[in-house]
Amino acid sequence: MKKVATERNFRWAGEEPSVGRVMVRKASYNGESLRKTVFSFLDNLCADRIEPGTRVLVKPNLLSPNPPESAVLTHPLVVKAVVEYIIDRGARPVVSDSPGTGSFGRIIRIGGFADALAGLDVEIREFKESGARDIGEPFGTIEMAKDLIDFDVVVNLPKLKTHSQMLLTLAVKNTFGCVVGLRKVEWHMKAGVDRDHFGRLLVQIHRAVAPAINILDGILALEGDGPGKGGTPRHLGLLMASTSGVALDMAVCTLLGLPTDRLPTNRAAGKLGLIPPSIELEGALPLVDDFQLPEEANLIYGPKSLHSFLRKHLLQRPVLDRNLCILCAKCAEICPADAISMDNGPPLFAYDRCIRCYCCIEVCPEGALAARNPPAGRLFQHIIR
Ligand code: SF4
Ligand code: SF4
Repeated sequence: MKKVATERNFRWAGEEPSVGRVMVRKASYNGESLRKTVFSFLDNLCADRIEPGTRVLVKPNLLSPNPPESAVLTHPLVVKAVVEYIIDRGARPVVSDSPGTGSFGRIIRIGGFADALAGLDVEIREFKESGARDIGEPFGTIEMAKDLIDFDVVVNLPKLKTHSQMLLTLAVKNTFGCVVGLRKVEWHMKAGVDRDHFGRLLVQIHRAVAPAINILDGILALEGDGPGKGGTPRHLGLLMASTSGVALDMAVCTLLGLPTDRLPTNRAAGKLGLIPPSIELEGALPLVDDFQLPEEANLIYGPKSLHSFLRKHLLQRPVLDRNLCILCAKCAEICPADAISMDNGPPLFAYDRCIRCYCCIEVCPEGALAARNPPAGRLFQHIIR
């Protein structure tokens, strides 16, 4: 069994489906119609992978303790419908993730998962242990959730959200949650401010996890300064699904009126040969061209000797709204670059050290941090445009 799981987890370029089939449906969180839509996705796209006895890992976005109406997490009723399908097929579901911040128990309770899944034969547990996995060069062996090896099938359940560093967090980015706890932060640190490099890491992790299906919760999406509480819920009323996370993410770009290569993970997938040659849409894909994106981050150019200066004065950075800060210090605890200090007061940022990973924005429970361009950076951008 272990061998099968290993093969599943290590599909390589060229093994993606020749056609990226993406199903799009109008949807709401109304229990019965939601259930029907989710069941039809699973029936159409991966029924042959979920059989009696199959061990199925369900991977929602469980970033931090937030209620369903905040649109930060995959909605619990979407998770419930998937779990019900798996149980109906005689398979064995486990719901897991490694949150960015907050206790897993609180996320399950506040996020509405405990209530939604009550009475169902499903285990809900946090990824705890890591195991070494080779995701290919240039990253080589990295630490990922050990649990992945024990499951036959992964069902990936991303939320449609903006992301200060990566523009959007969709199907490919959601599997980054399979890197356990602080290891995620370490990888942010290693990937630094180079979004294309980080995008490649995300794609290679997604390829290693190889979900059998990706079902995106775009019913209540998150726009603006996502992916945490700083974002703004936006009703789109859509569920989308595909066996190819890359095809699904490309379809979302089209939905939002963005060139598909605007998303760093799509660019990386293109370089790795993981974009299906054609994408087939089933269902009407509307155009939502007023979706609020986060302020676009600029990258560091020029000689290395100037990087510290550029980081400090020109580069987009996390900025604090003091009125919202409750001094919890979660941002300082998570910062991989040790760029946040708190001396009995609000967080202070050493922008010359900050690598712009935006982990601090992700974990802030109050939405007190947002990515903003400094005045000199805005002027510089204006000049070079
Ligand atoms: S200050 Fe925030 S964005 Fe900068 S390195 Fe630390 S966690 Fe990342
Ligand atoms: S900015 Fe957010 S995470 Fe940091 S101390 Fe304030 S409330 Fe806590």
